[in-house]
Amino acid sequence: MFLRLLLCALALQLSLVADAPVYYLLWFDTEDYVEPAADDAALRLATDLEAISVPATFKIVGEKARVLESRGRTDVIRALARHDIGYHANNHSIPPPPAMYLKPLGLLEGAEEFFRREGDGVRDLERIFGVKPSCYGQPGSSWGPQSNIALRRLGIPVYMDEGSQVGLNNQPFWYMGILYVFNLGPNTVRVNIDDATKAGEAKQKFDDAVARLKAQGGGFIQTYYHPTEFVTTEFWDAVNFARGKFTGPSDYKRPQMRTKESSEQAYKLFLDFVKHVKQTPGVRIVTARQLPQLVETPSQLVDVPRTRERFAASLDIEGPHSAADQLLALLGFQSARVDGPAARSESTVKATTIPRELFLRGREDAISYIDQHRRLPSHVWFGSERLSLADFAATLAGDQGGLTVGVRRGQTAFEKHIATDPKRAFNWAIHPETFEAPGLLELGRLQAWTLKPARLR
Ligand SMILES: [Zn+2]
Repeated sequence: MFLRLLLCALALQLSLVADAPVYYLLWFDTEDYVEPAADDAALRLATDLEAISVPATFKIVGEKARVLESRGRTDVIRALARHDIGYHANNHSIPPPPAMYLKPLGLLEGAEEFFRREGDGVRDLERIFGVKPSCYGQPGSSWGPQSNIALRRLGIPVYMDEGSQVGLNNQPFWYMGILYVFNLGPNTVRVNIDDATKAGEAKQKFDDAVARLKAQGGGFIQTYYHPTEFVTTEFWDAVNFARGKFTGPSDYKRPQMRTKESSEQAYKLFLDFVKHVKQTPGVRIVTARQLPQLVETPSQLVDVPRTRERFAASLDIEGPHSAADQLLALLGFQSARVDGPAARSESTVKATTIPRELFLRGREDAISYIDQHRRLPSHVWFGSERLSLADFAATLAGDQGGLTVGVRRGQTAFEKHIATDPKRAFNWAIHPETFEAPGLLELGRLQAWTLKPARLR
């Protein structure tokens, strides 16, 4: 009897693992508006993938779309439009790139500036490809949290790229209300298109990722390339915009080209790898446009007593809930999406307790702020003294009732998911050698109040 139960449980476990969905995303940063052969590379990749029924997401630069149009490449535009269309910035590498222009700006001014600079490219893509881009990804490592607010305003729900500034368990996550596919670590798998001896290695890495994700109930794997890589040996922008250099269109230098043989080998190695992915049982190839349907819609059903207990010790992500979700639940919000605070504030309250009446006034004021701005306040006032948001959250969670409320200090554990090295996180051949953006990472940490896993449906 016991053995039968055990076997049953084992079979159930195995079938759960077998059914765990593994999704595969293939995307191309389609950006080279200098070298016309890159247009043909994009056409060939789109056509070859269509022939084997593999959908990809082409994240297109605004200037690239305009150049395709002015070169009369309707063949390329049509072939790409049969796949999914994403967005990859308006001008990509023409200085200043996003992280550079976002660096001196705060949360809201940065969002306005991203909207102003990048909005035209979105509108051009819509006009040229007849569809709103499904996702955005930054040029190089030129990331900034302000972009998320602008993306929501532009109607782009997904951020799909690879970078190190923010990440959660090497799987997709929600951040500032945007669905992020970012920082997938070992779940980003690429085949070396220059070395046939490494093809087996990449397939093995892919198989390992599939097995690992199945064992943990499913997940996402991604592969990315640039069409231009299949025809050139150096990047179009490294030739013209290295380390922040400006080159005007009339002076553009063309990158070094691959030989015909080298190019053919690159296509072959790539397609062999994609065919391996397609043949792998239990793997579903999807595009960025499908992503929001594949994950759970964020819910606000927070276990309030549990949050009270946990928040008093440490402010952290709990199951599918961000720290912001939990704070909102403590404040009595039924469902709301907010951004993190725009700045970091220190507590000035010196006393160890706050009189109940004053505390309730502060609490009401915090609720009013969130209602008005759809953003968490950086601090909450109690008369002429204030608590930082973290200290307020911990104090609120620890409130036992009574005539006074004991002041607690909040530990923002969720901030550990944001990169700490302001130089390495923004390292990119197009940023100046000395470029670093500690302020963008700090703003990113504040926005990590909203960070939470994107769970599979
Ligand atoms: Zn790019």
